[in-house]
Amino acid sequence: MDDYKLNLTTYTTPPSECCSLPELQQICEERLQLYKIMDEAKNLGYKPSTAVWNEYLESQIVQRKLSTSIILLRNENYSVGHNKARRHNHIAHWMLSLCYCRTKDLRVFFTRCELQWFEMLYKRMKDEELQQFFTDSELECVVVSQREKNLLKEQLLMCTKVKEIDFDTTIFYKINFSEIPTLLPSRKVFLCKGLAYFPQNYLIYHIHNKLWRLLSGRLFWLNKVLPTGIKEDRIEYFLNNLPLISPNYKRFSDKNIIVDLENIDQVAAAHYPLCMKTIHSLLRNEHHLKYDCKMQYGIFLKWIGLSYQDAMEFWKDEFTKKMSSEWFDRKYSYLFKHQYGKVGGMIDYEPSSCEEIQNSCPGPGQHHGCPFKHWDLDRLLQRCRSDGFSTYNIKNVRDLVISKKYEEACMMYFRATHNATVENVFKSPNQYFVESYEFEESLNDCLVDVFVECCDP
Ligand code: SF4
Repeated sequence: MDDYKLNLTTYTTPPSECCSLPELQQICEERLQLYKIMDEAKNLGYKPSTAVWNEYLESQIVQRKLSTSIILLRNENYSVGHNKARRHNHIAHWMLSLCYCRTKDLRVFFTRCELQWFEMLYKRMKDEELQQFFTDSELECVVVSQREKNLLKEQLLMCTKVKEIDFDTTIFYKINFSEIPTLLPSRKVFLCKGLAYFPQNYLIYHIHNKLWRLLSGRLFWLNKVLPTGIKEDRIEYFLNNLPLISPNYKRFSDKNIIVDLENIDQVAAAHYPLCMKTIHSLLRNEHHLKYDCKMQYGIFLKWIGLSYQDAMEFWKDEFTKKMSSEWFDRKYSYLFKHQYGKVGGMIDYEPSSCEEIQNSCPGPGQHHGCPFKHWDLDRLLQRCRSDGFSTYNIKNVRDLVISKKYEEACMMYFRATHNATVENVFKSPNQYFVESYEFEESLNDCLVDVFVECCDP
């Protein structure tokens, strides 16, 4: 039997031992029951990792007699069946990843459930077990030395917004800032020379982020190798006939996004592809755009959900910083009304595809087009540098641009800015936006709130 040292694991290696089909069936069905409970909790409106969510899960796990989960949650070493429960946990994860790797929706659902389960186990770990876990899983977190901690005391206390901790006994960690993008916007970390400093109770964010990427990447890989990977008929039959719990989360649609005049700058910074980010900044700085930019950006805005009223106000606010309101109404408003199908032929324009944008020919002083195709390479790489890309990512972007693989370079830009894996190259800026929004949504849904509760002022 494989040696399972801890309840908590990153499931790095698949199990390598024998397991009968009936046992396999029982192991997988129990894990599916766990997913079902999580899905029910979500449908009841409980936010993952809150007290009410945990309470519901724990009571249902006991009520439905999910023996593996009960033993693992108790986390009493040497209790009867402890090693067996760890073994089941490991096998269930791997077997179900073979089932849930098939589609994107299934992959997201599986990753979300597994991370929620991971968090439940994480919270029950004893200090020495956690230390063992960090050592085994190589999470690349450096403990801030006592000397450095004292030197940075003021900044650490201020920037991490931690009010109720005992500074002297709290361990602080430092890590490359790009490893914890979810903490950056809320300024919960202290940034210095590319490193993010944070207290131990934020460590879960880092682990979560890391695991998310690890599981997503693994599922994606399994999806590619699976068609040729399973040679055994009985296993194939078994996997094809497991009654999977379907993802029951909201599908993304334009209606789920709220883009308005209040949040448009944040949305642009977080979710726009480089082509649209560039135009948006230009508009904010110069309060004017040439015709092609207005077309490229205006229709993009309509399709990401900016309402007609907000769009008119948005354009007018900017343009009238340089011209009178009457001049705007007379000379420019028609175009924006036209984009929303309110005047003229009342056409519902489709947003431009990347191919169409790349086929345009911006002349000197024009800023529409695709940065990966139309920008000077030095300017593009400089932009990547200022966006904090690693040397490795900069090289990748450079190589892809030189090979004229512009959409792939854009995909690399997405990966580097989101620390995420994307599967298909983008066909349009709107698709990029949707992927980005969806990624953040799924990440947010999974993030633990418990630490925010105790650390927020
Ligand atoms: S590849 Fe498409 S989405 Fe990306 S920057 Fe170019 S046009 Fe925009």
